Amino acid sequence: MFIELEPIFNNEGSCKEFEYEFVPEDCAEIAVARVKGSVKNQTGIVSLTAEVSFLIDALCDRCAAPVKEENTIDISHILVSQLNDSDNDNFFLIDSMHFNLDELIREDILLSLPTKILCRDDCKGLCPYCGANLNEKQCGCKKPVDPRLEALKKFLD
Ligand SMILES: [Zn+2]
Ligand SMILES: [Zn+2]
Repeated sequence: MFIELEPIFNNEGSCKEFEYEFVPEDCAEIAVARVKGSVKNQTGIVSLTAEVSFLIDALCDRCAAPVKEENTIDISHILVSQLNDSDNDNFFLIDSMHFNLDELIREDILLSLPTKILCRDDCKGLCPYCGANLNEKQCGCKKPVDPRLEALKKFLD
């Protein structure tokens, strides 16, 4: 969704609320994101706050079981139309008064995602030898011994 920021930047005390949903581009693991929030100008400072709920719909990185998980994050940024040296990371430099909110929210969602999506924290994954799902059963495969180590062992014996 695009928001016209010019009237907000130009009017102290103005506020625009928004509520909508969208499908973030190029992130396969997010099914849909729902956004509810506002952009406000308080004493010349323009801030954007929103609650974003999204559905992770992906496969476990270890065992490939489907993972469906509803997540909610709170986002908050101070929007600025130019950056000064003293500004910090909390400031978000807008590239246009015709502002693409989806792009900002998509980045916040991606930052909030874990590096690995797992069906559960202690997922045991698949056996690399027989492919058994180790969450469901112990397959009894033994880790093959490195032949070089085997030779060394014989030597030591
Ligand atoms: Zn798993
Ligand atoms: Zn196995």
